[in-house]
Amino acid sequence: MTYRGRFAPSPTGPLHFGSLVSALASWLDARAHGGAWLVRIEDIDGPRTVPGAAEDILSTLDRFGMHADEPPAWQSHRIARYQEALDQLKDVGLIYPCGCTRKEIADSLLNAHARNTTLAYPGTCRSGLHGKLARAWRLRVPGGDAAVITFEDRWQREQTQNLATEVGDFVLKRADDQWAYQLAVVVDDADAGITHIVRGADLMDSTARQIYLQRCLGVPTPAYLHVPVVTNEQGEKLSKQNGATALDDVNPLEALSAAARHLGLELDGTAYQTLEHFYAAATAAWAERMSVRV
Ligand code: GLU
Repeated sequence: MTYRGRFAPSPTGPLHFGSLVSALASWLDARAHGGAWLVRIEDIDGPRTVPGAAEDILSTLDRFGMHADEPPAWQSHRIARYQEALDQLKDVGLIYPCGCTRKEIADSLLNAHARNTTLAYPGTCRSGLHGKLARAWRLRVPGGDAAVITFEDRWQREQTQNLATEVGDFVLKRADDQWAYQLAVVVDDADAGITHIVRGADLMDSTARQIYLQRCLGVPTPAYLHVPVVTNEQGEKLSKQNGATALDDVNPLEALSAAARHLGLELDGTAYQTLEHFYAAATAAWAERMSVRV
């Protein structure tokens, strides 16, 4: 197997410390395996995309010495592939149009909660739109044992999610006509031949959905590794939305050393004169920590 990994930032602002940690982990894992490292700009969420942010992220990665092995992929150029995947699922009856508004779903979940049952999408439109207008497309998830997805995360160990009780039929194309992250990421990773996904643990909750979708589309499931997320003083995930500051490009070694420490790598950042020296030491430390053998 030829290792292919990736870093897939959403261009909602400049790279910050939290996203640097994900970038570094995916980069080190690819290097430790002697594999390829790709970058994909996840710019399909029109309303959240900030003009210029993608270019900014790419140039920061460059200045930090993380050079992709292929030109970056852009989700906004891949809409036709998402439509093909949706059509493939439609042909086999795995998706259905949903007319529920957020409020209707929230109300029915409140009722469900009161009855102490599931908090997943209640499947209101599974059997038809009940005279409502189609808004989104949802993927049917199975019931019973087939709903239980279990996988081994390389960092967090065994993970299990019951798609029927914890998630419900999930959206692949949104009511505002935007492609859902879950569909885009699965189609893109499969088309790019990604074998290993390394990303922040905030995405752990999406992984079972993505594995199920891979099975529905008949594409391979990559290996997963979710690194601990960086939180602010209030314990919230560091994000562009809660004011994470852009990285200081002038002194990459300082930020990279801090990112390596967050990943549990014992390195003295000040001991390295160049990015190359730092990356060589960090790759060896990562390989040791994650028991990577090639
Ligand atoms: N675009 C996602 C983010 O920036 C990451 C997606 C992924 O790695 O699967 O949070």
